[in-house]
Amino acid sequence: MKEFDVAIIGGGPAGLGAAIYSGRAMLKTVLFDKFGTGGQLNSYEKIANYPGFFEDTPTYRLSESLLAHAQRFGAEIIYDEITSISDDGEWKVLKGLADSYKVRASIVATGVRYKNLGVEGEEGLRGRGVSYCATCDGPFFVGKDIVVVGGGDSALQEAQHLTQFGREVTIIHRRDEFRAYPDLREMVQKHPKIKCLMNSTVQSIEGKDFVEGIIIKNVVTGEISKMKTDAVFIFVGLQPNTEFLSGYADLDDYGYVKTGEDMSTSKKGVFAAGDIRIKDVRQVITAVSDGAIAAQSAWKYMSCRK
Ligand SMILES: Cc1cc2nc3c(=O)[nH]c(=O)nc-3n(C[C@H](O)[C@H](O)[C@H](O)COP(=O)(O)OP(=O)(O)OC[C@H]3O[C@@H](n4cnc5c(N)ncnc54)[C@H](O)[C@@H]3O)c2cc1C
Repeated sequence: MKEFDVAIIGGGPAGLGAAIYSGRAMLKTVLFDKFGTGGQLNSYEKIANYPGFFEDTPTYRLSESLLAHAQRFGAEIIYDEITSISDDGEWKVLKGLADSYKVRASIVATGVRYKNLGVEGEEGLRGRGVSYCATCDGPFFVGKDIVVVGGGDSALQEAQHLTQFGREVTIIHRRDEFRAYPDLREMVQKHPKIKCLMNSTVQSIEGKDFVEGIIIKNVVTGEISKMKTDAVFIFVGLQPNTEFLSGYADLDDYGYVKTGEDMSTSKKGVFAAGDIRIKDVRQVITAVSDGAIAAQSAWKYMSCRK
């Protein structure tokens, strides 16, 4: 079994931030990701609020820089999905789909994914017009009618992105006001290609082989109506990727990891960083910073054991 000082699970901003600090502390560091590094940075095009990166800076540049920085300090990158962590004396054993690994400390930074809407037709039409990633699937819907479900920052940002492709983008939100930042709210109100349907929920998604339409309910009047659409993009909240920690480290009722200020979890030698933690601000800057703190704490934990 391959052995490392520190294993970082997840190669998004939190994991890469941790890898930079762990590598620089001369710890033998490995970073696992099940897909490729960058995490959620791969699902949108530009970032406007990361210090030093201006509005027209593509997110892939930030992602590439973080990876290059982590590798420069010696972090090894392994593409594997970690499915469990367990204790073996002073060691942690990480089981992945490809292999198993022995590590002295672990930093979990597996991020979040979008929640399902949980309506009829969603599962069956996933990948056939039902999507959770505008950057990945938007180009399939050039000149088509697109529905976006949700009312937060991501839903509005993604709706704007989808206007590049769609003939018209309709945002459906269950409340009478969006939760997103004011500049995004203003943008959708002014955008000539975006329509907003407030106080409405999607009851089901219809279509034989591909999405053909949706059934909508007005939550105020109770009125049910049908709308033709070619695609339904769903952004209705987040689900932490912590299933593999359940029963091992303490999570809250929604699956977010409980941590101290030093990013320690309820398990000695296991730290958590980024969007998977209970916290108020889930952004790149806070994820990277969590990663740095977690790596520093892992280093302290290991120093005390020597
Ligand atoms: C559409 C959209 C727009 C956004 N806009 C902004 C913005 O403008 N500014 C901003 O600051 N933030 C923005 N964010 C939020 C920001 O991207 C996140 O807060 C940040 O990416 C969180 O980083 P993370 O490392 O905690 O998690 P993630 O980025 O989610 O990375 C987690 C990584 O872990 C990997 N992983 C998961 N499970 C496993 C496993 N079991 N084994 C191995 N690997 C695993 C995943 O493949 C992924 O690469 C946006 C997010 C979205 C979706």
